[in-house]
Amino acid sequence: MIEIKEVSKHYNGSHAPALAGFSLQVEQGDFLFLVGPSGAGKSTLIKLIFREQTPSAGAVLFDGKSIADFKQNELLNHRRRIGMVFQDYRLLKQKTVYENVAFALEVIGSSPKEIRQKVPAAIEKVGLKGKENSFPTELSGGEQQRVGIARAIVKEPLMILADEPTGNLDRENARQLMSLFEDINREGTTVIIATHAWDMVDQMQKRVIALENGRLVRDEQRGSYGREH
Ligand code: ADP
Ligand code: ADP
Repeated sequence: MIEIKEVSKHYNGSHAPALAGFSLQVEQGDFLFLVGPSGAGKSTLIKLIFREQTPSAGAVLFDGKSIADFKQNELLNHRRRIGMVFQDYRLLKQKTVYENVAFALEVIGSSPKEIRQKVPAAIEKVGLKGKENSFPTELSGGEQQRVGIARAIVKEPLMILADEPTGNLDRENARQLMSLFEDINREGTTVIIATHAWDMVDQMQKRVIALENGRLVRDEQRGSYGREH
């Protein structure tokens, strides 16, 4: 599904590369954790897959095609099939739960009928039925992140990319969120999560990709976070 081939990424004005000769293959339906110290390159990897950044060398292939070569409509299509989830949720404060989730479909041009069908289903799936008319500030952190996940899955993406999704949550909320990602993955969606939640990683026994200084240092099928917490 995704093939990252010998990718290096140098940001302007920074001496060390964020990624260096990094290669990785991800299959449809994979669930993988990206782990490693701050600055190891996890966010950069996520941004390269979404094509928010482009590699300085090497290539990111999606179904065999280099995403750097995507024309405008292919790029829109690419982003449509990826759901992004952020540490700070990035909800629209002026919009209700329902409107936040609906907005994700509006921007990709879904019909009102599609929106009426899909939004309640996504809200129900993340366990927020009854909160449709709440505003983000009326929700707990865990609930806000559930809205973030509903917004990502309502597009029925092939893949979810989550950067520290539980970084602002307590353990119980983190556990529930991870279990939600597992449910989504069970239905066939590829899930990639950059995280420092070592207890979750150790417990869940998913594929673990460990990065250090922009390099892949470990790729294990039923991996653990690693000794350094
Ligand atoms: P992680 O997500 O593992 O913390 P990042 O991908 O955010 O790692 O960062 C990798 C390296 O790239 C770090 O040294 C970071 O400071 C640098 N970096 C990230 N984004 C930028 C940027 N926009 N400009 C310059 N340097 C950056
Ligand atoms: P947590 O203990 O997980 O941080 P909160 O105590 O913030 O959760 O919220 C508990 C419940 O109360 C949640 O269902 C949330 O939606 C609701 N709630 C919190 N603040 C408000 C508010 N200002 N208006 C309406 N409902 C609220």
